Amino acid sequence: MFRSATPALMLALLAAGCTVIPEAPRPAAVRPVPAPASYAYRLAAPAPAPSARACLADLGVRRAAFTPLPDQYYGAGCATINSVRIAALSGDDGSFGLTNMGPVTCDMADRFAGWARFGVDRAARQVLGSALVRIETMGSYNCRNVAGTDRRSAHAQANAIDVSGFVLADGRRITVLGNWTQGSPAERQFLHLVQTSACKRFGTVLGPEYNPAHRNHFHVEASGNAFCR
Ligand SMILES: [Zn+2]
Repeated sequence: MFRSATPALMLALLAAGCTVIPEAPRPAAVRPVPAPASYAYRLAAPAPAPSARACLADLGVRRAAFTPLPDQYYGAGCATINSVRIAALSGDDGSFGLTNMGPVTCDMADRFAGWARFGVDRAARQVLGSALVRIETMGSYNCRNVAGTDRRSAHAQANAIDVSGFVLADGRRITVLGNWTQGSPAERQFLHLVQTSACKRFGTVLGPEYNPAHRNHFHVEASGNAFCR
């Protein structure tokens, strides 16, 4: 009787809305398809730390035109972490472009933006009577050592910029190489003011007085403790 009763019981249960159909066996574990590299990166990338977000916000308040960059580790002590690419910076009135700029840390970009506005643009207007329109650099990130040592340069962490010259709205181009010793008194005063103000904002500033390797640029670096030569 049990054999004939079971189908009847099942029908009764189905009519009552109950599921009696046995669950299909689960398929064997499926090997996941590897995600594309960019997708894997997004999964692996932690959200920016609060300090990193605060820095990006500061840079926005400074009206900098910039793009945040994904963290990159190149090995051998070289990396770009919490870095940005700056397209332009703002002064009191107007903006200035930059040449040869690669990635820089957000901290470095924030200090640089303040220096460009208050240290360079204002000095250009006050001493040379013309606004700043462009800062020329010899680069920022560079996986290399401090020249003549086996120590990694701050450039290897995108934490330094080499500044070689300044272009003004009236067309003048003031360079460290050409005007540090051979410029007019006003041009030399401008370059000295620019370096002095850099020393207030960066941990390390090296210029032509430091050594012959810096005869053509100011090395400005976020790290360091008021080392200014
Ligand atoms: Zn440098």
